[in-house]
Parts: sequence; structure tokens; C-alpha cells
Amino acid sequence: MPHDHSTASHDAQMQEAERRCVAAGESFTPLRRRVLELLLDHHGPAKAYDLLPLLGGDKGVAKPPTIYRALDFLTRLGLAHRIESLNAFVACDIGACARSTIFLICEKCGAAEEFDAGHALVDLADAAKRDGFAINRTMIEASGVCSACQAA
Ligand SMILES: [Zn+2]
Ligand SMILES: [Zn+2]
Repeated sequence: MPHDHSTASHDAQMQEAERRCVAAGESFTPLRRRVLELLLDHHGPAKAYDLLPLLGGDKGVAKPPTIYRALDFLTRLGLAHRIESLNAFVACDIGACARSTIFLICEKCGAAEEFDAGHALVDLADAAKRDGFAINRTMIEASGVCSACQAA
């Protein structure tokens, strides 16, 4: 289970999120906070429409543009990532990867594990630089079968 976060790491991630919002001069609104909590609690990548009904609360069901704005915000700060091939979002697992990250996506169970392969991406950035290209952001999505599904 790659995304079975303990409460302790959950709290740490919320504190990190708060810190980054302050550093970016942005406010960590209750909605943004709630969307990040839902992503942290969600097992595997979540689509915006999976999160909508969970956001209801007292004020009724949240509107799609509201949640998309919150997801955009979290993605911009590197607190969440958008997995293009699934059109879904995951909370950032590593924390220091706003610019480059690799996801290992299981074709059987749908788990998306954030993979810390910084060196591979540094090599990529260096190679691109030799070609005169400055990479701002790298997002690699690798699909295959996770270790749990291989064992099953
Ligand atoms: Zn990340
Ligand atoms: Zn799997």
C-alpha cells in the first residue's frame, strides 16, 4: 500500500502546505485545506468529480469551478500533482518536487506511486541544457504493474 499515510505524516504535510502558502504570499483557505485533506485521504488518484460530493458540508455541494481552482492552486504550489494520463490528482508524497516528478501508475489497481528518481531527472535536465533547452518542469508518467499486484 504505497499511499497508506499515517496521521503523523498527514499532519506534517498539512503544516508543510501551510508553510508554502505563507512563503508564496497565498492564503490557505478552508476550501484549499479541505481539498488537500481529501487528496491525502484518497487511496490512489482522485478525479475532481470524485471529490465534489465529499466537499458538500453545510453549504451544499461544491461547484466544479471551485474545486478546479483549488486543485490548480495545490498543483501550482507543488502540494498536489495532476496525472495527465488519468485526468486525476494526487497529493504530493515527497514534498520537494514542484518541478520534476515521476509517477509509477499500476494498470491493475490504479495506484500511483510518486517515485523519487531525482538523479534521472537531473541527467535529463543536463542533456536538455546541452541542447540549449531550459526545462522548467518535468512530469513523467510510467505505467506498469505494482509490486503488490505482481505478488497477487
Ligand atoms: Zn510530489
Ligand atoms: Zn497494483
